[in-house]
Amino acid sequence: MADEQIPTIGRCYSCKRAFHYRLASVVTVAIDPETGLPPGMTVLGTFREPAPEAEARAVREPICPACVDRARRFEESTQPSALRLDP
Ligand SMILES: [Zn+2]
Repeated sequence: MADEQIPTIGRCYSCKRAFHYRLASVVTVAIDPETGLPPGMTVLGTFREPAPEAEARAVREPICPACVDRARRFEESTQPSALRLDP
């Protein structure tokens, strides 16, 4: 688990900017590599119950703090939100 304390440079999935993060504390979002969208989210931006296979192939992509802030503000103004952010 020591690796998780090493700061990593990654690219924010949302805004594509490079930023430093720690694996142990970075906010990630599940992305289905086939659609480039969170599992269950359609290209129209609507949300439906994700298919189990979409959940299974989804990968966690890091999100920078600026985008997390934006997503949280967006969540407060529109419910329910399609983006599910995990701390
Ligand atoms: Zn970002």
